[in-house]
Amino acid sequence: MSTSRRKTRTCKVGKLKIGSDHPIAIQTMVTGQAKTTKAIIEEIKSVEGKGCDLIRIAIPNLEAAKAIPEIKEKISLPLVADIHFDPRLAVAALDYGADKIRINPGNFNDKSYLDKVIALAKTKKAAIRIGVNAGSLEKDLWDKYEGPVPDALVESALRWSSYLENKNFGNFIVALKSSRVPQMIDSYERFACQTDIPLHLGVTEAGPTLPGAVKSAIGIGTLLRKGIGDTIRVSILDTVEKEVEICRQILKSLGLYTKEPDIIACPTCARTEIDLPSLVEKVEKALSRVHKPITVSVMGCVVNGIGEAREADFAIAGGKNCGVLYYKGEIYKAKVTEDRLIPELLNLIQKKT
Ligand code: SF4
Repeated sequence: MSTSRRKTRTCKVGKLKIGSDHPIAIQTMVTGQAKTTKAIIEEIKSVEGKGCDLIRIAIPNLEAAKAIPEIKEKISLPLVADIHFDPRLAVAALDYGADKIRINPGNFNDKSYLDKVIALAKTKKAAIRIGVNAGSLEKDLWDKYEGPVPDALVESALRWSSYLENKNFGNFIVALKSSRVPQMIDSYERFACQTDIPLHLGVTEAGPTLPGAVKSAIGIGTLLRKGIGDTIRVSILDTVEKEVEICRQILKSLGLYTKEPDIIACPTCARTEIDLPSLVEKVEKALSRVHKPITVSVMGCVVNGIGEAREADFAIAGGKNCGVLYYKGEIYKAKVTEDRLIPELLNLIQKKT
């Protein structure tokens, strides 16, 4: 059973609002394949308008920070600068206009610089993500807990959250990432019940596409179903487009994504008498232009087609070279030839929505 969404404060990243009752934001991070500013901009543009709400880039040196204004000028998404170790790069990223910085203060090589970072973020009205990660836990916590166990990640996240709050800085988000799904779920759950800070969910370094998607769906999906989580990132060895697509599918599968249809399709069996894979492909293509939260089921035969049609807004149940078209569980047209199924479905969607 799901619980209602966890109540949080709101974090502003550029024009985007994260947390509270705002839609769960999808984010991704520019890959290592994008070696030039032009390539970074191209990668970002490939996910604009495809459900991505904010984009992160790595800032490994000052040159990367200096490219921020040019990148921002060419994109419409809020930009997050990812900083490790060197707090001076966090200052540079903020100076050059990053809307948010992702830092793990625990791995700053000069922690005395942290106050300057926080003060500048406040002046610039930028957001901060405290990115606690099992792979870069502070040494004292590693020693205390004998490893990056959930309680260690939670203590680190609470430590730095309190630090920011004591500096009167509230526009921040927290992540407690691990590449191990049970550890990730436990860490977020334990932190979530102690604060109202918005949470960035992710299974870090989830791996190649298929296992990475499965791990992410289980980790992120389990937490979202419990009402925990305000922005998500799928972290896999694939393109930014694929990461965003998987995020959309995770949200859609939980009824949390309202910008596009949810397509249900059967796996086919010996009863199938229609070319279902090609029909589903055509339905997906046709519905890519429909930005409405409808469910459309495409079934190989009437055996389960009738049942699924009752649950979906629109449905097709295949027959021999034809199909039955349903609307809200009722037959809308009993026999539609295969070549007319897509146009008839689109006409029906247009008429009823
Ligand atoms: Fe087979 Fe029909 Fe079920 Fe598809 S809907 S798997 S064709 S029984």
